[in-house]
Amino acid sequence: MATSFQGFRSLIENSPDAISLIDTQGKILYGSASTTKILGYDPEELVGRNCLELIHPEDRDHSSRALQDAVYESPGTLQWDARVRHKDGKYSWVESTVSNLLFESEVQAMVVHQRDIAARRAAEVESQRHAEELARSNLRLEEFAYTAAHDLREPLRAISSYVAILLQKTQMEPNTKQMAKFIVDGAARMSTLIDDLLSFASTGVHAPPQRVDLQRAVAQATQNLAQAIKVSGALVTVDRLPVVRGNEIHLVRLFQNLISNAVKYGGGEEPAEIHVTGEQRGSDWVIRVADNGLGIAPENQARVFIPFIRLSDRDVPGTGLGLAVCKKLVEEWGGRIWIESELGAGSTFCFTIVAEEQGILGPMLADGAGV
Ligand code: ADP
Repeated sequence: MATSFQGFRSLIENSPDAISLIDTQGKILYGSASTTKILGYDPEELVGRNCLELIHPEDRDHSSRALQDAVYESPGTLQWDARVRHKDGKYSWVESTVSNLLFESEVQAMVVHQRDIAARRAAEVESQRHAEELARSNLRLEEFAYTAAHDLREPLRAISSYVAILLQKTQMEPNTKQMAKFIVDGAARMSTLIDDLLSFASTGVHAPPQRVDLQRAVAQATQNLAQAIKVSGALVTVDRLPVVRGNEIHLVRLFQNLISNAVKYGGGEEPAEIHVTGEQRGSDWVIRVADNGLGIAPENQARVFIPFIRLSDRDVPGTGLGLAVCKKLVEEWGGRIWIESELGAGSTFCFTIVAEEQGILGPMLADGAGV
């Protein structure tokens, strides 16, 4: 018995944490020798004092509440962080864990472990500072992109409207007329490029995730594309899709980009047949947008997500930014996007998204199918 008591004692004395016994009012009854390493005091200097005296005034309330909870509510352990005054007068961050002995034994005391967490707190403060700096710099970049886009649109509008007037009012050789039309087309392409670049630049702007019904997001995307779908004769069918955690505007934009690509490239000679499905995999969903087009060769499947990479003819309108936007959006919520395809056998664009938790929020699968 004596040996095991001695073993215990040496365990406590050699612990890297400061270990103390306190009563229900917070009065220190015992302090281990390791207290000196963390707080600078000899244990005898602390016995009889109230442990809350050493806590920073701003952290005293929550520390006092934690001790009260330990006395009256919790038979187990409680943990909290607070600044504790060192003997040299400086405060340092300490993680305290209190284990309540009151419920288990006759002993009217609680054990408190105190660990120096200065390094962890410094790392947390640094990473918070980095995150704030990144958010500020993203905002500055976005403002710059908006201003640049606005300033670029003005001269473009002037070029196309003056060339259009020239075309109307001047007799031109067919060749010259053709060249003037190229100018108008070029200005229109550049205007689309500016819109897409702006969309790409603003994609990283963080928005807190909400509950999004994907069925509604796809319906909104197809409605936005109604004209293009109608003209091409494409057929869009949608299975029952889940409710997920995400941002509705971003998800509509993602479906719009994928479905509009499927309309443009999906059908080959025939009108495209586009099918949207969802499959649950653990806590994620894999959403697929499949078409019956020419497909994408394996060596190009990663490349098409790079900004400005296009595999198609220049006659097909586009800027090569749509899939880059999709990738940025999906990665923003920690998901993955990829292509399953073989040349000549259609393409399936797949992405993952976190499922909404089941419960009072309602069913995982939204009702309704087909567009
Ligand atoms: P854009 O459509 O403006 O060219 P995207 O970034 O959306 O730009 O697509 C990049 C390229 O990927 C397209 O130019 C096209 O060659 C190819 N692509 C995209 N979607 C499909 C698809 N469903 N089927 C075949 N090729 C596709």
